[in-house]
Amino acid sequence: MQLSQKLIAIEVLFFTILMGGVALTIYFFALPEIRNVETQYHLTDIKRIQNGIKNELDYLNSMSTDWAAWDDTYQYSDQPYKAFETANLVPETLEDLRLDLLILINKENRILNKLANDNIGDPESLQLLQGSEWSNNHPALQYIGDDKQGIFETEIGPLLLARQPILTTRKQGPPRGYLIFAKLLNDSLVQELSEELQVDISISMATKSTLTPSVKFISPKQSHSRGYIQLMNSSNTVIQLDIDQPRPFYQQAISALRYSLFTALILSSIACLITYMILRKVLINPIIQLQQQADRFKYKGEKQPFTALESNDELGQLSTTFIAMAKELSQHFGELTQERDQLQDSSYTDALTTLKNPRFLSAFLSSEANKKPPADWTFFTLDLDFFKQVNDNYGHDIGDVTLQQFSAQLKSFCRDQDILVRSGGEEFTVICYQLDGTSAKKLAERIRQGIEKFEFGNQQKFNLSCSIGFFSIHIYTPQANTHVWKNMLKLSDIALYAAKYSGRNTWVGLQNLSHCKDGHYPNDSSEVQHWLESKKLKLITPPHTEEQLRWDKETPTNCSE
Ligand code: GH3
Ligand code: MG
Ligand code: MG
Repeated sequence: MQLSQKLIAIEVLFFTILMGGVALTIYFFALPEIRNVETQYHLTDIKRIQNGIKNELDYLNSMSTDWAAWDDTYQYSDQPYKAFETANLVPETLEDLRLDLLILINKENRILNKLANDNIGDPESLQLLQGSEWSNNHPALQYIGDDKQGIFETEIGPLLLARQPILTTRKQGPPRGYLIFAKLLNDSLVQELSEELQVDISISMATKSTLTPSVKFISPKQSHSRGYIQLMNSSNTVIQLDIDQPRPFYQQAISALRYSLFTALILSSIACLITYMILRKVLINPIIQLQQQADRFKYKGEKQPFTALESNDELGQLSTTFIAMAKELSQHFGELTQERDQLQDSSYTDALTTLKNPRFLSAFLSSEANKKPPADWTFFTLDLDFFKQVNDNYGHDIGDVTLQQFSAQLKSFCRDQDILVRSGGEEFTVICYQLDGTSAKKLAERIRQGIEKFEFGNQQKFNLSCSIGFFSIHIYTPQANTHVWKNMLKLSDIALYAAKYSGRNTWVGLQNLSHCKDGHYPNDSSEVQHWLESKKLKLITPPHTEEQLRWDKETPTNCSE
């Protein structure tokens, strides 16, 4: 995996973790918190409704207090009189005071007067209000304690009721009975409350199990809250308040969270992109640059591939170190290469003549020669005639000088690309690439004549001759086998011996006529003669050597050019 791919993977991982973290935070912390706030909000609504109903009770209480502490009422409760009744105990009073029921009780606990609107009908028909005795044990009074007010269960619905002792205007006694104001908690009152509090309330009677209010979220758009109000005269029935409400806060919060998440997503993506670009610029690119430079140093052999990075950080220091290292390595490598070349050169050079030695010949035939494209090749083998006598007559040192002079002469006749080898003693091999039999014949004669004319030795001059054998061949396909080359060299050797046996100071050439695929060539002079007879080889000799050509010490031959 490339560094940039790893960086992208890290960025994606980071991005995923970040987004996952945001999503989890929203799911496990933000949403529950929002629901919590919503719940509080809905519970407050329940409380507001309960307070709204209580306000109604307070209103009844305050109105009844005003009426009960009024001299006219005080007087009427003792001595009922018509004027009071016609002025006050009329249906309009109920309407004005927003009451459903008004009851006056005298000090003997008997109902003095009662006034009810259509909602109630006949108060006596309600179980709560039955009976003429309104002592403190009366169902409508027995539960009312110091609050002097309460909500009661009746057959026609919950009844808000307030009771006040009838006193003088100065609130002095003795009390002459009770004044009761009541109001039904019916649909119209609920409607009024709904409008006032701006919540959709529905009221019903329910069996008491709990008084703890609850909030349920039915859907992301709808909630249902429920609260209870205790009744004075029932321990197992309660007023149940139900509110169905939309969830605007939740909707707004969700849409705000969505926007936040989307914004976080966009910003994180941009942050990841910017981080990636910065890291790529300051970290990855310099590393890639260093790696490419190191590759050029290693594989392409560039000596100075490292350029200093334009930063002062560790990577900049690394590139500086690389530059110094590459410089030092190149220097050492150059020295080593030079030493190796020198060593190789000396190991391939004949010390006396500075021509190549047999080791070079082997190496050349096993590698370089095989890489040359198909062409004509000629292999020469040369040997100084009667060289032993030079040593004998002039000494070994002069013999050495003679070998050096011969080598120099040989070099002067050959081309630069020809390979000149001292193959042993006073025997030499010359390999000429791109030289055919006709040119080889001319070169052999030029060498023979040149050596014949050259004056060897130092103070004392003397003449020498040499014998030459060569083999010319057109090679059609590159050779891969060193033995084949050696077989070809062997043919030039056989030709050299023929030149020796034919009187020396001459040359004998053989030219290959047939395309030899198996790489097998004659291995001795008798095989050569067979090949000559079967026209697989062509003999090339100077005119004067033609008749006296011998393949061995005794046998004369008939073959000629
Ligand atoms: P031929 O015409 O048959 O080749 O006769 P030749 O005398 O040249 O051949 P022979 O093989 O009898 O002698 C070769 C001589 O070359 C023998 C040896 O002393 C001499 N020789 C070989 N290597 C060196 C060398 O490095 N320095 C000197 N001075 N003489 C050498
Ligand atoms: Mg010799
Ligand atoms: Mg010899």
